[in-house]
Amino acid sequence: MNHFDPANEIQDLQYFGEFGGVNPSISDSSTYTFLSAKTMLDTFEGNTDGCYLYSRHTSPTNLYLSQALAKMENTESANVTASGMGAITSVLMQICKSDDHIISSRTIYGGTYAFLKNFLPSFKIDTTFVDINNFDWIEKSIQPNTKVIYCETVSNPLLEVADLRKLSEICKKHNLKLIVDNTFSPMSISPTLLGADVVIHSLTKFINGSSDTVGGVYCATKEFVDASKSVNDGACMLLGPTMDSFRSSSVLKNLRTLHIRMKQHSYNAMYLAERFENDGLKVSYPGLPSHPNHEIMKGMMNAEYGYGGLITVDAGTTEKANELMELMQQENLGYLAVSLGFYKTLFSCSGSSTSSEIPEEERIAMGISDGLIRFSIGLDQDIERTYQKMKECMLKTGVLNHETMYI
Ligand code: PLP
Repeated sequence: MNHFDPANEIQDLQYFGEFGGVNPSISDSSTYTFLSAKTMLDTFEGNTDGCYLYSRHTSPTNLYLSQALAKMENTESANVTASGMGAITSVLMQICKSDDHIISSRTIYGGTYAFLKNFLPSFKIDTTFVDINNFDWIEKSIQPNTKVIYCETVSNPLLEVADLRKLSEICKKHNLKLIVDNTFSPMSISPTLLGADVVIHSLTKFINGSSDTVGGVYCATKEFVDASKSVNDGACMLLGPTMDSFRSSSVLKNLRTLHIRMKQHSYNAMYLAERFENDGLKVSYPGLPSHPNHEIMKGMMNAEYGYGGLITVDAGTTEKANELMELMQQENLGYLAVSLGFYKTLFSCSGSSTSSEIPEEERIAMGISDGLIRFSIGLDQDIERTYQKMKECMLKTGVLNHETMYI
């Protein structure tokens, strides 16, 4: 069967370095020479493909990484940025101008939420936050000036899964752009196959996978990406969140193992989620049939990459969550740290970290409880061993107790 596979798309790219190297050469220059002054002017006017001008605009190394990510997300083009927020802010400011309106899922990364809620209104761009799977609510929120529906495929931190097919139908009907942050589900979900117009990633997470840099990308049509890089009015060109060439070269090398890593992250997360659920813990993972959006994800995913590496466990209170996380770190089961996609497990209490920008009453309305721990499950070789050790920690801290365990 000939189906789209993001890993095959990356595999099929062929690079030759300057001296025939198997990795493309790193272009260590901020500016580029022209043989004629006329070509320089043409390039400024956007008329010469294949000429490099200045690295904030484009550099050969960034183009290699962008091309690989465009292949992965099945888009004509892509542009890498210095951070995920650099991609998100560039895309939104490219599409939305003063007096425009955005509809956004209310369960999104805290930084994106803060940008929409606190930053954009000063540019007269307002956002209505909705439950992303309540289509009535979404339709009712559409105004004549609405330009965008924004969501995360799998949301941070609640792991709600957006029904991208349905959202794309609504967007097409009302002539809106569907912008999807796919950071939590690279490989597993290909949003453009389901109707997304722009796909964003924080490369900081699974795609780079080694927690040694921040980075971002947006993948879209050539027309959109070129417009965002216009020297006259391109949001990314003018806001300037440019990735450094050395970094894009190292992210490209890590991207090549993403498909293997995602399978292992997903396998380990599924293993722990099933065991914890069986033990009577309040655990959320889109791979569990008990997850409210399990069927939606199943119907959208590239099955071989699984349901992703994130699970949440409700420890009851912030104090219990903190005690458990500190003990797990002492036992070397992972790190008490924000972020995700590392080879070791990372855990943090979302309400007091990555979602702390969201006011308490809104956090409660969304379902981010005080004791909610977000786990980014690592690449552990022996996940049963990890499970046994984590269970010990949960029993010691009283997050789990023998009486309430089902087994
Ligand atoms: N999108 C999601 C889903 C995230 O979790 C994050 C960061 O945590 C971002 C975007 C922002 O990415 P960055 O930290 O690379 O700017």
